[in-house]
Order: sequence, then structure tokens, then C-alpha cells
Amino acid sequence: MSKNNQTILIAKNLSDVFYHVKSTDTLQIFGGGTDTEQLQEKALTIRAIPELKGFDRHEHFIDFGPAITLSEMIAIGRTNQPAILYDALESIATPTIRNIATLGGNICAEGIKHTLWAPLLALDTRLEFRTQNEVKYIQMREFTEIPHGFVLTKVRVPTEVWEVAIFKRIGPSHLIANDSASFVFLADTDQSILANIRIVLTGNTVFRSLELENRIIGARLPLSQKTRETFIEQASLQFDQLVPESETKTIMKIQFLNLVRYSVGQLS
Ligand SMILES: Cc1cc2nc3c(=O)[nH]c(=O)nc-3n(C[C@H](O)[C@H](O)[C@H](O)COP(=O)(O)OP(=O)(O)OC[C@H]3O[C@@H](n4cnc5c(N)ncnc54)[C@H](O)[C@@H]3O)c2cc1C
Repeated sequence: MSKNNQTILIAKNLSDVFYHVKSTDTLQIFGGGTDTEQLQEKALTIRAIPELKGFDRHEHFIDFGPAITLSEMIAIGRTNQPAILYDALESIATPTIRNIATLGGNICAEGIKHTLWAPLLALDTRLEFRTQNEVKYIQMREFTEIPHGFVLTKVRVPTEVWEVAIFKRIGPSHLIANDSASFVFLADTDQSILANIRIVLTGNTVFRSLELENRIIGARLPLSQKTRETFIEQASLQFDQLVPESETKTIMKIQFLNLVRYSVGQLS
């Protein structure tokens, strides 16, 4: 497809993609295009590639193709995937946009981290990137940018079940704005002991602190008032230390601490 000086290519398979990536240094790859303001001179959509669509369920994880649409992910159902992922999907945009928008586009979108980042990060998702001859696996927590010349080809999401699993959004509903953020809290107990916990906030920052999580793992439930208050103070300190200064930091911190307080209150 060619419009003015623009060429929009529709790849039918991965070999097509690698061929074009290799032959055009400035090729822009996109999924549904709902997060791409302006297409470059030569752009290629991966939406029609069968091997990048769909998903494979395994015992402990689901492999999603990055070209799967958000609607297709929702159609899998809340009980057949991590509930926090499903809740995050349902909070994104409108059904019409979700019919076009892809998982890969949500992960690779530039700038502010989009809504699926918090659940994917909290679940320890692994990303697969490929060129014609090379494969790179990058954990979501280590992912900062797409390696040059690579294409996102698989998203592996662990499916372990958490006793407490909370997803909340900060900022406007069904939109991405400067003050958008997503929050996830996961917790597991074992014989009245808090066995595992994960707390993630993503937006214009990426917050996860193992130091904070380790401070409360092993605590006996129900948590005393003092333990809860001390934990909130520690969360506040960690937030101050790890989150860079920005014009939304103060309001983000207030909302983050409220969500941590609410989530810790769900542990019984
Ligand atoms: C009205 C409206 C409301 C919205 N609300 C939300 C919301 O609530 N939450 C939210 O998170 N988003 C929202 N969005 C943004 C967007 O729709 C979603 O984030 C969507 O998932 C992006 O997917 P896409 O396929 O359209 O991305 P695209 O625009 O196709 O791509 C986005 C970026 O990812 C890169 N990319 C895509 N696929 C790959 C790949 N396989 N390999 C390498 N790079 C790749 C592209 O180069 C591009 O830079 C909204 C958009 C609109 C228009």
C-alpha cells in the first residue's frame, strides 16, 4: 500500500519482516497503529502474520503472539489467564480500539509505560525478540528498549495463581495521559505466614522494590496495625528513593501509598 511518499507494507510471515528490517534501516514496525501518531516513510504492520497472532497455553505459562489483539486476549476469559491481566485489558480504551490494538504495541509503545506493563512486570513476563539469525530473551523487569533491528515475537506470561491479586489504575479511565499509571499487588500465604508478595507501579516510572517486598515476606497474618503502618513508611521511603523527580511524583506517591494501604488491608 502506498500513500503520497509513504509505503505501508503488510507482512504475511516473519521472513517478510526480517527481509524488510534488513533492507530498510528506518523501517517502522507497528501492530494496530492505535498508538502511532505518525507513520514514517516506510512502515510495516505485523498484524497479519499468523505465527505472531494467537496464543499457546502451557501448564505454567501462556505464550502470546505480540500481534494478538486486546479483544482476542479478553475473549480467552478471566479464569483462563491471570485475573490482573484480564482486568487491565478491560480497562484499556474502547471495544472498537481493542479490536485493533495489539499486545506488542502496548508493551513497545514509547514514552509512558502503558496499562499492561504493571501486570506483565508483576507476573515476571519474558519477552522474546528476533532477527533472522538471532533470538534474545529479555525479562520485562530488564526491558528498556527494543534491541536495534529486532522484532518482538513472543510474550511469555507465567500463570501461577495468587491468593490476593489486585489491579488498579491511576489517572483517567480508558485513556493514556501524563498522569496515567497502573498498580498491581500480588500476595500468597502459607499457614498464616505471608509467603510471597509483589508490588508494582508503572507509568512515567517503573517501581518495583525487592527490598520493600522482602521486609514483609515472612510476617504472620493477620498483620498488626503497627506492622502495617511501618510497612507504609518503608514503602514511602522506597518510593522517594527509587522514583525520579517529576511534576506528577507527589500526587503519584499519595495514590501509590493509598493503594498499598488498601492492598495490605486485604491480607487476612
Ligand atoms: C482513544 C484511545 C484510548 C486509549 N486508551 C489506552 C489505555 O487506556 N491504556 C493503554 O495502555 N493504551 C491506550 N491506548 C493506546 C493504544 O491503543 C494501546 O496501548 C495499544 O495496545 C497499542 O497497540 P497498537 O498495536 O495499536 O500499537 P502500535 O501503534 O501499532 O505500536 C506502538 C509502538 O509499538 C511498536 N511495536 C508494535 N508491535 C511491535 C513488535 N512486534 N515489535 C517491535 N515493536 C513493535 C511500534 O513500533 C510503535 O512504536 C489508547 C488509544 C486510543 C486511541
